[in-house]
Amino acid sequence: MDVARDELVIDRAGLGALVRVLVGRGRTVIGPTVRDGAVVLAELTSAEQLPYGWGVELEAGRYRLVRRADGAAFAHSAGPQSWKTFLHPARERLWSADRTADGSVEFRAEEPEAPSYAFLGVRPCDLRAIAIQDRVLTGGRYEDTGYGARRRGAFLIAAECTEPGATCFCVSMGGGPAADAGFDLALTETVDEEGHRFLVRVGSADGAELMAHVPHERAGAGTRESARAAVDGARERMGRSMPPVDLRELMGASLDADRWDDVAARCLTCGNCTMVCPTCFCVTTEEVTDLTGDHTERWQQWDSCFDLDFSYLHEGPVRSSGRARYRQWLTHKLSTWYDQFGSSGCVGCGRCITWCPAGIDITEEADALHTELAARTEGGR
Ligand code: SF4
Ligand code: SF4
Repeated sequence: MDVARDELVIDRAGLGALVRVLVGRGRTVIGPTVRDGAVVLAELTSAEQLPYGWGVELEAGRYRLVRRADGAAFAHSAGPQSWKTFLHPARERLWSADRTADGSVEFRAEEPEAPSYAFLGVRPCDLRAIAIQDRVLTGGRYEDTGYGARRRGAFLIAAECTEPGATCFCVSMGGGPAADAGFDLALTETVDEEGHRFLVRVGSADGAELMAHVPHERAGAGTRESARAAVDGARERMGRSMPPVDLRELMGASLDADRWDDVAARCLTCGNCTMVCPTCFCVTTEEVTDLTGDHTERWQQWDSCFDLDFSYLHEGPVRSSGRARYRQWLTHKLSTWYDQFGSSGCVGCGRCITWCPAGIDITEEADALHTELAARTEGGR
């Protein structure tokens, strides 16, 4: 058997062995688990902590765990966190400084924390999101060194989607429920009369080396066909889709649309959509000092284009209205992101829809802008 080229199959015990090998090698294994009424991403010490038998029901502004009879581990779509929680954490100390006895100031650069991560259960949309953050945070002249160190050491195990959520729309963003690149191993879970098992595809030399230490078999035709059918079925069951137009052009032609007032009347400018988005990367920095003023630290933390201070120049914020801030977010995601980074900033994971407290739906907003633009064009406005 050629581990690197053949499709392999492991059972639930094999998945347990895979996690044991990773943990035994000192990897910090992060994967989905049930906590606080949601499937969250957290450190796993055993595959038994995976959300076996749990699924989710999603809608705009709504998330609910549901029991599944098939005992599947990866039959849930994106939860409230994405992998940026670990690769690009919400708060990180950059440096600190102390006043010394002779009155001078001593600076200390912070060594970035870079655990040897193994991410288990990365969805194809999130693989694309990681690739986007790679370009943003390590692709330019100035690398985010903390992100770079964590990302280079990370081992990625994808889980292809077999159960898309009602807020998922990756297919209409050019992705899909299948993982095509960017992983060390890709799993496709299948549960049928032949049993509960995982088709494994190897995506890197590290992945092949790892599988040599995990009990597996070559996948038979039944497993391969069942896995492909599950992923193809997911492609057909996407909960949502973007309007089939050039979104980049749509945004460029919609700067003065009336729809921005409509969405601004509903948007709380809370920034939840940017916090849960796997591609949003904006940060700000703040200095904190102790009461004596002898010790100071600089921290980097996530920021949001929905914050009033985000566009603060001298004299005040440039985008002072909710209309301007929502328009900035959507236009950047779907249009000007191409100018900066060569792709869309949206992978269609649906998190911003699910976790928006006002139930604002990015696909509905794009659709409304498209309808308004079409009406204006027809009316000669
Ligand atoms: S769109 Fe929703 S999640 Fe985003 S800022 Fe507005 S209310 Fe908050
Ligand atoms: S904009 Fe929304 S759907 Fe698109 S990647 Fe971000 S959270 Fe996911």
